[in-house]
Amino acid sequence: MTRTAPVVVIGGGQAGLAAGYHLRRLGLDFVILDAQATSGGAWQHTWDSLRLFSPAAYSSLPGRLMPVQSGETYPDAQHVVDYLADYEKRYELPLERPVRVTGVHRDDALLRVETDSGTWRARAVISATGTWWRPFLPAVPGRTVFHGRQLHTVVYTRPQDFAGRRVIVVGGGNSGAQIAADLAHHTALTWVTQRAPRFLADDIDGRALFDAATARRRALDEGLTDTGGVASLGDIVAVPPVRAARDRGLLTARPMFTRLHTGGVEWADGTHSPADAVIWCTGFRPALSHLAPLQLRGSRGRIATTGTRATVEPRLHLLGYGDWTGPASATLIGVGRTARDTAREIADLLG
Ligand code: FAD
Repeated sequence: MTRTAPVVVIGGGQAGLAAGYHLRRLGLDFVILDAQATSGGAWQHTWDSLRLFSPAAYSSLPGRLMPVQSGETYPDAQHVVDYLADYEKRYELPLERPVRVTGVHRDDALLRVETDSGTWRARAVISATGTWWRPFLPAVPGRTVFHGRQLHTVVYTRPQDFAGRRVIVVGGGNSGAQIAADLAHHTALTWVTQRAPRFLADDIDGRALFDAATARRRALDEGLTDTGGVASLGDIVAVPPVRAARDRGLLTARPMFTRLHTGGVEWADGTHSPADAVIWCTGFRPALSHLAPLQLRGSRGRIATTGTRATVEPRLHLLGYGDWTGPASATLIGVGRTARDTAREIADLLG
């Protein structure tokens, strides 16, 4: 079956919903296709103890403040899922689930969006598929010979699954620090980071990160000196569980090991440590395989964008993947402004 919509939004997480909000405000017809069976995007799949790095009011999408979670300054992931479910209902966003987009193609004047349940034809497409679905694992020697368990952040759920085990957590970002803090009381933990962990000052959280990202984008747009943005402040927000573990001396990191072997890891000085599991908190890449038919990747593997618009395919916008698609656009509070600009550009395109 082939259906038509002026705008197709691919992905029904926070970025897709923010796009929907602004498309609706501009009076455009659209549909949001989401591969998940239920609301909440990636927030449905995170580990149990995850805490947002900003308070609720600073984690809100356009139009509706996230309510405070009772007893918590920093809400958990289920609170975000509930908020997103309420958001899409409140604004009656036209979501189709579960629908997985398999490919976006050029089809004369329109873009053809192939899915696992039919075809859409659209004058404009917003891709808002996030990064959670494409975990990144670094190429470390011996990764295939290690006999223990290896998993990425996306599969980690709770510390009880590793009780009493020797666990190595790799990664010096927020995921690595939160998961290391989660495991510190239950396991023989080794936390490994590429460089010494950089905790933000305890009174700095996602609010300051958002301001830093915005200031950086503004400086770059105006041809001024790069402020360094978020990276200049540090890597890890000291949310309460991280702060508690750090203050108890449980979050000291070792530099990266040189290789894995069957029973554990080898350090730069040639010594070995046994391990039962390695948890790779080593980040994500944009989930863009559905755009492959458009052949937009440049020599460095990146799709060139002007704002969110694909530079060589102006009917396509990429929303929410990181600062390269809008300052702080990969955050709850940050995606709204970029979504607004995207919707306006599409309104102009459609006349
Ligand atoms: P997603 O939530 O991943 O939603 C994308 C949707 O698109 C999903 O439903 C997915 O199933 C669907 N999809 C993917 N491919 C297809 C396809 N081919 N066809 C159809 N649908 C598809 N941000 C904050 O603001 N505060 C925080 O505290 C914070 N903490 C974070 C902690 C972690 C561990 C991570 C990884 C990120 C965190 N972020 C945080 C960043 C960001 O807010 C989240 O990553 C958020 O989930 C991004 O939303 P999204 O809508 O871009 O992507």
